[in-house]
Amino acid sequence: MVDSTSSSRARPILELRNISKAYQMGEVEVRALRNVDFTVHTGEMVAIMGASGSGKSTMLNLVGTLDRPTSGEYLLDGQPVQNLDEYALAALRNRKIGFVFQSFNLLARDSALDNVALPMVYAGQRASVRYKKARAALERVGLGERIDHLPNQLSGGQQQRVSIARAIVNDPLLLLADEPTGALDSATTQQVMRLFVELHQQGMTVVLVTHDPNIARYAERVVTFRDGVIVSDENRGHDENALHAHLG
Ligand code: ADP
Ligand code: MG
Repeated sequence: MVDSTSSSRARPILELRNISKAYQMGEVEVRALRNVDFTVHTGEMVAIMGASGSGKSTMLNLVGTLDRPTSGEYLLDGQPVQNLDEYALAALRNRKIGFVFQSFNLLARDSALDNVALPMVYAGQRASVRYKKARAALERVGLGERIDHLPNQLSGGQQQRVSIARAIVNDPLLLLADEPTGALDSATTQQVMRLFVELHQQGMTVVLVTHDPNIARYAERVVTFRDGVIVSDENRGHDENALHAHLG
Protein backbone atom coordinates (compact mmCIF):
# COMPACT_ATOMS: atom_id res chain seq x y z
CA MET A 1 0.00 0.00 0.00
CA VAL A 2 1.29 3.44 -0.95
CA ASP A 3 0.36 6.43 1.20
CA SER A 4 -1.53 9.39 -0.19
CA THR A 5 1.50 11.68 -0.27
CA SER A 6 3.25 9.44 -2.79
CA SER A 7 2.33 11.62 -5.77
CA SER A 8 4.37 14.48 -4.36
CA ARG A 9 7.36 12.13 -4.29
CA ALA A 10 6.77 10.63 -7.72
CA ARG A 11 9.93 9.23 -9.27
CA PRO A 12 10.54 7.75 -12.72
CA ILE A 13 9.60 4.10 -12.50
CA LEU A 14 10.44 3.35 -16.09
CA GLU A 15 12.52 5.26 -18.59
CA LEU A 16 12.97 4.25 -22.21
CA ARG A 17 15.72 6.24 -23.90
CA ASN A 18 16.00 6.18 -27.66
CA ILE A 19 14.63 2.65 -27.83
CA SER A 20 14.36 0.84 -31.14
CA LYS A 21 13.19 -2.69 -31.84
CA ALA A 22 13.55 -4.42 -35.19
CA TYR A 23 12.42 -7.89 -36.17
CA GLN A 24 14.15 -9.67 -39.00
CA MET A 25 11.61 -11.50 -41.17
CA GLY A 26 13.72 -13.23 -43.80
CA GLU A 27 14.97 -10.45 -46.04
CA VAL A 28 12.68 -7.86 -44.51
CA GLU A 29 13.38 -5.85 -41.39
CA VAL A 30 10.28 -4.79 -39.49
CA ARG A 31 10.97 -1.72 -37.39
CA ALA A 32 8.40 -2.18 -34.63
CA LEU A 33 9.71 0.70 -32.49
CA ARG A 34 11.80 3.62 -33.70
CA ASN A 35 13.77 5.83 -31.34
CA VAL A 36 11.14 5.90 -28.62
CA ASP A 37 11.61 8.05 -25.52
CA PHE A 38 9.07 7.34 -22.82
CA THR A 39 9.00 7.89 -19.07
CA VAL A 40 6.40 6.88 -16.49
CA HIS A 41 6.43 8.12 -12.89
CA THR A 42 5.17 6.26 -9.85
CA GLY A 43 1.43 6.49 -9.37
CA GLU A 44 0.57 7.22 -13.01
CA MET A 45 -2.08 5.40 -15.00
CA VAL A 46 -1.12 5.39 -18.67
CA ALA A 47 -2.96 3.97 -21.67
CA ILE A 48 -0.92 3.04 -24.74
CA MET A 49 -3.15 3.48 -27.78
CA GLY A 50 -2.69 2.83 -31.47
CA ALA A 51 -3.90 0.75 -34.38
CA SER A 52 -3.06 -2.92 -34.72
CA GLY A 53 0.62 -3.32 -35.65
CA SER A 54 1.66 0.11 -34.34
CA GLY A 55 4.07 -1.35 -31.78
CA LYS A 56 2.03 -1.34 -28.56
CA SER A 57 2.69 -4.94 -27.51
CA THR A 58 6.33 -4.69 -28.52
CA MET A 59 6.61 -1.68 -26.26
CA LEU A 60 4.85 -3.34 -23.32
CA ASN A 61 6.97 -6.47 -23.66
CA LEU A 62 10.13 -4.36 -23.51
CA VAL A 63 8.81 -2.47 -20.49
CA GLY A 64 8.02 -5.81 -18.86
CA THR A 65 11.53 -7.13 -19.70
CA LEU A 66 9.95 -10.03 -21.62
CA ASP A 67 11.93 -8.87 -24.64
CA ARG A 68 15.05 -6.80 -25.29
CA PRO A 69 15.42 -3.72 -27.48
CA THR A 70 17.64 -3.69 -30.57
CA SER A 71 19.14 -0.44 -29.34
CA GLY A 72 18.59 2.16 -26.66
CA GLU A 73 18.57 2.19 -22.91
CA TYR A 74 15.92 1.04 -20.45
CA LEU A 75 15.91 1.91 -16.75
CA LEU A 76 13.43 0.12 -14.52
CA ASP A 77 13.08 1.79 -11.15
CA GLY A 78 16.33 3.64 -11.85
CA GLN A 79 18.26 0.49 -12.71
CA PRO A 80 19.59 -0.15 -16.25
CA VAL A 81 18.39 -3.59 -17.30
CA GLN A 82 20.28 -4.19 -20.56
CA ASN A 83 23.25 -5.88 -18.90
CA LEU A 84 21.24 -8.24 -16.72
CA ASP A 85 21.19 -11.91 -17.71
CA GLU A 86 17.96 -13.89 -18.06
CA TYR A 87 18.20 -15.12 -14.50
CA ALA A 88 18.53 -11.67 -12.97
CA LEU A 89 15.83 -10.31 -15.27
CA ALA A 90 13.38 -13.02 -14.23
CA ALA A 91 13.99 -12.23 -10.58
CA LEU A 92 13.54 -8.51 -11.20
CA ARG A 93 10.35 -9.13 -13.16
CA ASN A 94 8.94 -11.36 -10.46
CA ARG A 95 9.64 -8.77 -7.79
CA LYS A 96 8.66 -5.57 -9.58
CA ILE A 97 6.19 -6.28 -12.36
CA GLY A 98 2.68 -7.73 -12.56
CA PHE A 99 1.25 -8.75 -15.95
CA VAL A 100 -2.31 -9.05 -17.16
CA PHE A 101 -3.03 -10.47 -20.62
CA GLN A 102 -6.08 -10.48 -22.86
CA SER A 103 -6.43 -14.25 -22.56
CA PHE A 104 -6.14 -14.40 -18.71
CA ASN A 105 -3.47 -17.17 -18.88
CA LEU A 106 -4.81 -19.04 -15.85
CA LEU A 107 -3.94 -22.67 -15.16
CA ALA A 108 -7.15 -24.60 -15.90
CA ARG A 109 -6.70 -27.29 -13.24
CA ASP A 110 -5.81 -24.92 -10.41
CA SER A 111 -8.26 -23.04 -8.21
CA ALA A 112 -8.37 -19.26 -8.20
CA LEU A 113 -6.39 -19.37 -4.94
CA ASP A 114 -3.66 -21.63 -6.39
CA ASN A 115 -3.40 -19.53 -9.53
CA VAL A 116 -2.86 -16.39 -7.49
CA ALA A 117 -0.44 -18.07 -5.08
CA LEU A 118 1.77 -19.36 -7.91
CA PRO A 119 4.02 -16.30 -8.51
CA MET A 120 5.07 -16.46 -4.88
CA VAL A 121 6.36 -20.01 -5.35
CA TYR A 122 8.97 -18.52 -7.70
CA ALA A 123 9.56 -15.72 -5.20
CA GLY A 124 10.39 -18.35 -2.58
CA GLN A 125 7.60 -17.57 -0.13
CA ARG A 126 6.37 -20.13 2.40
CA ALA A 127 3.01 -21.79 1.71
CA SER A 128 1.28 -20.20 4.71
CA VAL A 129 2.36 -16.75 3.55
CA ARG A 130 1.46 -17.52 -0.07
CA TYR A 131 -2.10 -18.50 0.73
CA LYS A 132 -2.64 -15.63 3.11
CA LYS A 133 -1.49 -13.12 0.52
CA ALA A 134 -3.36 -14.85 -2.31
CA ARG A 135 -6.58 -14.74 -0.31
CA ALA A 136 -6.06 -11.04 0.44
CA ALA A 137 -5.40 -10.29 -3.25
CA LEU A 138 -8.58 -12.13 -4.28
CA GLU A 139 -10.53 -10.18 -1.69
CA ARG A 140 -9.03 -6.99 -3.07
CA VAL A 141 -10.47 -7.75 -6.53
CA GLY A 142 -13.85 -8.73 -5.09
CA LEU A 143 -13.49 -12.51 -5.40
CA GLY A 144 -13.13 -13.48 -1.75
CA GLU A 145 -16.10 -15.83 -2.11
CA ARG A 146 -14.72 -17.62 -5.17
CA ILE A 147 -11.27 -18.71 -4.09
CA ASP A 148 -11.90 -22.44 -4.56
CA HIS A 149 -13.41 -22.13 -8.03
CA LEU A 150 -11.63 -23.42 -11.10
CA PRO A 151 -11.24 -21.00 -14.03
CA ASN A 152 -14.02 -22.71 -16.02
CA GLN A 153 -16.36 -22.19 -13.07
CA LEU A 154 -15.85 -18.43 -13.34
CA SER A 155 -17.12 -15.87 -15.85
CA GLY A 156 -14.67 -14.13 -18.18
CA GLY A 157 -14.70 -11.02 -16.03
CA GLN A 158 -14.08 -13.07 -12.89
CA GLN A 159 -11.21 -14.90 -14.58
CA GLN A 160 -9.65 -11.60 -15.54
CA ARG A 161 -10.02 -10.43 -11.94
CA VAL A 162 -8.20 -13.58 -10.79
CA SER A 163 -5.40 -12.75 -13.19
CA ILE A 164 -5.30 -9.18 -11.82
CA ALA A 165 -5.09 -10.61 -8.29
CA ARG A 166 -2.19 -12.81 -9.46
CA ALA A 167 -0.50 -9.74 -10.98
CA ILE A 168 -0.71 -7.68 -7.76
CA VAL A 169 -0.08 -10.39 -5.18
CA ASN A 170 3.66 -9.63 -4.91
CA ASP A 171 2.97 -5.90 -4.49
CA PRO A 172 4.63 -4.98 -7.79
CA LEU A 173 5.90 -1.50 -8.55
CA LEU A 174 4.30 -1.68 -11.95
CA LEU A 175 1.11 -3.29 -13.27
CA LEU A 176 1.18 -3.95 -17.03
CA ALA A 177 -1.85 -5.03 -19.05
CA ASP A 178 -2.07 -5.85 -22.78
CA GLU A 179 -5.64 -5.47 -24.09
CA PRO A 180 -6.99 -6.69 -20.73
CA THR A 181 -10.63 -6.32 -21.78
CA GLY A 182 -10.19 -7.59 -25.34
CA ALA A 183 -12.02 -10.84 -24.56
CA LEU A 184 -14.78 -9.32 -22.42
CA ASP A 185 -18.27 -7.94 -23.11
CA SER A 186 -18.93 -4.25 -22.48
CA ALA A 187 -20.52 -4.54 -19.01
CA THR A 188 -17.69 -6.74 -17.78
CA THR A 189 -15.15 -4.46 -19.45
CA GLN A 190 -16.45 -1.61 -17.34
CA GLN A 191 -16.05 -3.61 -14.11
CA VAL A 192 -12.52 -4.62 -14.96
CA MET A 193 -11.55 -1.07 -15.94
CA ARG A 194 -13.01 0.26 -12.68
CA LEU A 195 -10.81 -2.22 -10.87
CA PHE A 196 -7.70 -0.89 -12.63
CA VAL A 197 -8.75 2.66 -11.70
CA GLU A 198 -9.31 1.60 -8.09
CA LEU A 199 -5.86 0.01 -7.89
CA HIS A 200 -4.40 3.16 -9.45
CA GLN A 201 -6.20 5.28 -6.85
CA GLN A 202 -4.66 3.08 -4.16
CA GLY A 203 -1.22 4.00 -5.49
CA MET A 204 -0.47 1.37 -8.14
CA THR A 205 1.37 2.47 -11.28
CA VAL A 206 -0.57 1.10 -14.26
CA VAL A 207 0.40 0.91 -17.94
CA LEU A 208 -2.20 -0.67 -20.18
CA VAL A 209 -2.34 -1.26 -23.91
CA THR A 210 -5.56 -0.87 -25.86
CA HIS A 211 -6.70 -0.09 -29.39
CA ASP A 212 -10.04 1.16 -27.99
CA PRO A 213 -10.46 4.89 -27.18
CA ASN A 214 -13.29 4.03 -24.75
CA ILE A 215 -10.82 2.03 -22.68
CA ALA A 216 -8.08 4.64 -22.93
CA ARG A 217 -10.46 7.19 -21.37
CA TYR A 218 -10.09 5.47 -18.01
CA ALA A 219 -6.44 6.51 -17.89
CA GLU A 220 -5.29 10.01 -17.04
CA ARG A 221 -2.51 9.90 -19.61
CA VAL A 222 -2.86 8.55 -23.14
CA VAL A 223 0.15 7.82 -25.33
CA THR A 224 -0.57 7.08 -28.99
CA PHE A 225 1.66 5.05 -31.30
CA ARG A 226 1.73 5.04 -35.06
CA ASP A 227 4.20 2.90 -37.02
CA GLY A 228 6.48 2.45 -34.02
CA VAL A 229 6.62 6.12 -33.09
CA ILE A 230 4.84 8.03 -30.32
CA VAL A 231 2.66 10.57 -32.13
CA SER A 232 0.92 12.03 -29.09
CA ASP A 233 1.27 11.98 -25.33
CA GLU A 234 -1.64 13.65 -23.55
CA ASN A 235 -1.99 14.07 -19.82
CA ARG A 236 -5.52 15.20 -19.30
CA GLY A 237 -6.28 14.13 -15.77
CA HIS A 238 -8.92 11.66 -14.88
CA ASP A 239 -12.03 11.41 -17.07
CA GLU A 240 -14.79 11.02 -14.49
CA ASN A 241 -17.35 10.55 -17.26
CA ALA A 242 -15.62 7.39 -18.35
CA LEU A 243 -16.22 5.94 -14.90
CA HIS A 244 -19.95 6.57 -15.09
CA ALA A 245 -20.57 6.00 -18.78
CA HIS A 246 -21.96 2.71 -19.93
CA LEU A 247 -19.72 1.40 -22.65
CA GLY A 248 -20.99 -0.15 -25.85
P1 ADP B 1 0.41 -3.93 -31.73
O1 ADP B 1 0.48 -4.57 -30.37
O2 ADP B 1 0.30 -2.45 -31.69
O3 ADP B 1 -0.68 -4.54 -32.55
P2 ADP B 1 2.99 -5.19 -32.20
O4 ADP B 1 3.90 -4.56 -31.23
O5 ADP B 1 2.50 -6.56 -31.88
O6 ADP B 1 1.77 -4.21 -32.51
O7 ADP B 1 3.72 -5.26 -33.62
C1 ADP B 1 4.42 -4.16 -34.20
C2 ADP B 1 5.03 -4.61 -35.52
O8 ADP B 1 6.05 -5.57 -35.27
C3 ADP B 1 4.06 -5.26 -36.47
O9 ADP B 1 4.41 -4.91 -37.79
C4 ADP B 1 4.27 -6.73 -36.22
O10 ADP B 1 3.94 -7.48 -37.35
C5 ADP B 1 5.75 -6.79 -35.92
N1 ADP B 1 6.08 -7.88 -34.97
C6 ADP B 1 5.68 -8.01 -33.69
N2 ADP B 1 6.20 -9.10 -33.12
C7 ADP B 1 6.97 -9.69 -34.07
C8 ADP B 1 7.80 -10.86 -34.09
N3 ADP B 1 7.93 -11.63 -33.01
N4 ADP B 1 8.44 -11.15 -35.25
C9 ADP B 1 8.31 -10.36 -36.33
N5 ADP B 1 7.57 -9.25 -36.38
C10 ADP B 1 6.90 -8.91 -35.26
MG1 MG C 1 -0.75 -6.04 -29.48
